[in-house]
This record gives sequence, C-alpha cells and structure tokens, in this order.
Amino acid sequence: METSDVVIVGGGAVGCATAYFLAKDGVKVTVLEKDTVAGAASGYAMGLLSPLSGAGIPGPLEELSLVGFLMHRDLVGELKEATGLEYHAHPKDSIYLAFSDEEAEALGAIEDYSSKVDGVSCRWLNGAEIRTFEPRVSEAVPRGLLVEGTWLLEADEYTRALAKGAEGYGAIFRENEVTGLKRSGGNLRVQTEGGVIEAEKVVLAMGPWTGAVQEWFDLPVPVSPLKGQILRMEIPGPPMRCSLHYNSNYAGSKPDGLVWIGTTEERVGFDDQPTEEAKVKIIKEVAIFFPPVTEGRLVRQTACLRPVSSDGLPIIGQVPGWDGVYLSTGAGRKGIILSPSMGKVTADLVAKGQSEISVDIFSPGRFMPIAGR
Ligand SMILES: Cc1cc2nc3c(=O)[nH]c(=O)nc-3n(C[C@H](O)[C@H](O)[C@H](O)COP(=O)(O)OP(=O)(O)OC[C@H]3O[C@@H](n4cnc5c(N)ncnc54)[C@H](O)[C@@H]3O)c2cc1C
Repeated sequence: METSDVVIVGGGAVGCATAYFLAKDGVKVTVLEKDTVAGAASGYAMGLLSPLSGAGIPGPLEELSLVGFLMHRDLVGELKEATGLEYHAHPKDSIYLAFSDEEAEALGAIEDYSSKVDGVSCRWLNGAEIRTFEPRVSEAVPRGLLVEGTWLLEADEYTRALAKGAEGYGAIFRENEVTGLKRSGGNLRVQTEGGVIEAEKVVLAMGPWTGAVQEWFDLPVPVSPLKGQILRMEIPGPPMRCSLHYNSNYAGSKPDGLVWIGTTEERVGFDDQPTEEAKVKIIKEVAIFFPPVTEGRLVRQTACLRPVSSDGLPIIGQVPGWDGVYLSTGAGRKGIILSPSMGKVTADLVAKGQSEISVDIFSPGRFMPIAGR
C-alpha cells in the first residue's frame, strides 16, 4: 500500500501553502486534488492582499491576516527563486470610496487599524484628489480613504507557484478524489478513487467541500459555499493606478491588461456557473463609482465558491477525537491573503504539535458537542 507521512486533501491556496511549508521542513507530503491545482476559488480570486478589513478584521482574525500579509511579501522572492514562476505580486494602493458621512464613518475602523500595520498607511482624499489618481471615478464621489501599501497578485499563478515550490521539496501531487478516511491501528487510511493511501497525519483543506467530511467523523464541520462572480473587462484608457472599493464591490487593473470588477455573495449551494443576472448586477453596482464599465467589453466572466464557516472565521486545528487529522479551511473572502499564515500554522501543528500563532479561537472543537471538545 502507498504511504506518505502526511496526506493533504485539496490543492487550493491553503492546501498548497501547507504542503509547501511541510515539504520545506523535510516532511514527506502527498497532495490529493479532485480537479486541478488552483481549479477552484484559489484560481479565480481577485488576489487583493488587504490586511486592514474583512470579517473579523480588526478583531479575531487580525493576527492571522497580518502575519499572512507579511509572509506574502517574503514569499514572492522565495517562490520566484525556488520555482522561476512569476505571479505578479506587487504593491497596489486601494481607495475605499464613501458617498455619505455614515459610509465615511464606517471606514474609520480601517483608518484606526492602519496604524498597527507596518508598511500600510491611510489618508483621506476629496473627490478632486481621488480623480487625480483615477480620472474615471464618478464625479458624484465626494471622498475616499486612500490605503497605501496594499498588494495585488495573480491568485492562480500564486497557488501553482506554491505547488511547484512544494514539489521542489519532494511533495507529490495527484489528481484524485478522496472519498473517505478511516483509522487502522496507529495510521490513517485515506480512501480515494484510485486506491488507499496510508498516512500518519491528514490535513483536510477542501475549501467549501470540507463540510462533506462530517460524514466521515460524525461530527459537525459547518463550512458552506458562498458564490462570487468577477467580470474581466476591456476598458478604454490607461491601466488604473489603484484599486477602487465601494461596499463589497471593487474594480482594479490586472497584468492581463483587463479591469476586473466584482463581486457577488450568493447562497446557491455548489452551483459555480456564471450568470447573466450577476453580470448585470455587478456592472450596475460598479458603475455607481466607476462609470466606464457600462461601455467596457466583457472578455470573461468567472464564478467560484468561497469556503465560509457558520461563524465566519476559519477552522484550523485537530479534529476532536481524531489524533493526526487536521482541518484548515473557512477563509471566506480572505483565503489568498490568509493562505501563507494558515498554511504555516497548519504545517506547524502537524509537524510540531504547536504553532507560534495561537489558533485556539479557530479550533474545530468550537462547533462540536461539549463531550467532543
Ligand atoms: C470572487 C472571489 C474573489 C476573491 N478575492 C479574494 C481576494 O482578493 N483576496 C483574498 O484574500 N481572497 C479572495 N477570495 C477568497 C479566496 O479565493 C478563498 O478564500 C480561497 O481561495 C480558499 O482557498 P482554499 O484552499 O481554502 O479552497 P479552494 O481554493 O476551494 O481549494 C479547495 C480544493 O479542494 C479540492 N477538493 C475538495 N474536495 C476534495 C476531495 N474530496 N478530494 C480531493 N480534493 C478535493 C477542490 O477541488 C479545491 O481545488 C475571493 C473569492 C471569490 C469567490
């Protein structure tokens, strides 16, 4: 029977980052991916690295987000050297727009928190100043918070660079769907379409599909898909100097020469097909602050599924009652920025039994019956 020290289920950014850090530490790792590496959300995300905002930021997610952000800045050189792959990670300032006093006040949380984050700073701009950064912003926008020091990367290329980096340290990647997990003596038996692999430890980083494992353990793992769609558009004029954000929508230029605009938050199960309805909605909502989208040419529309837990925070740690089995999922809208820190923490828990960052609040045990904790 085939064996591996650690089997990782899922070749998204979180699974690949975990594989990278474990393999770099000399652990024999096999990654099993039912589709292709970066074939799900990690291959279609916007790729914005903004440590200042999001569910739980500031708040319980701030340390993991900040560490992830700082790790990205180091990883870009490290992975380029190790793999030769370029994933275009670069600083790209963001402007968070406000039409009303209430909206400006809500952005105050970002401004206050920015003082804690090294290398990121904020300042308010009036409408005219905003249009010196991006002349195509609507004349109706009166103010915005400029955040200098956020980053942007190509999420698919980044995830593949992590996978190639892991392979360089000996990790094996296989396209194989995992269908179950059983304990046999001291080891774990990972059941796949292609046979069984025996491992000492198993990491389940299956994105929104991780909820399926509750049947394997008979324990609750409340992760579900939150669909998001992005339009990649050809818009006349030069590339945008910064990304624009308003409510949960954004617009920003990418290295493919296109302006990517998004997004939606749809509770429609595992349906990951782009829809006409979403296209119309995104264009209408982005046009409020960036009118040229109404005249742009749609080049590609993508849809993918964010993994979201029932309390909105990641799930990281050992499954209660299942020695050697770890969950690492539930990053929601922040899985690209969080992937280095989630991957490192998970790798440390697996290899050393502890991590430098405390992840107790993300423990899978928080959803489980008291007796299981
Ligand atoms: C529209 C959109 C824009 C986004 N923009 C950003 C952004 O700008 N910045 C940011 O930080 N985050 C962003 N995100 C969030 C980010 O994309 C996700 O949080 C992240 O990709 C999740 O990574 P993951 O590895 O946990 O899951 P996934 O990428 O979903 O990977 C999980 C993998 O597991 C595999 N798998 C599942 N079940 C099995 C099985 N039984 N056997 C084998 N393999 C299996 C799947 O095929 C999949 O490849 C965005 C998300 C969306 C939808």
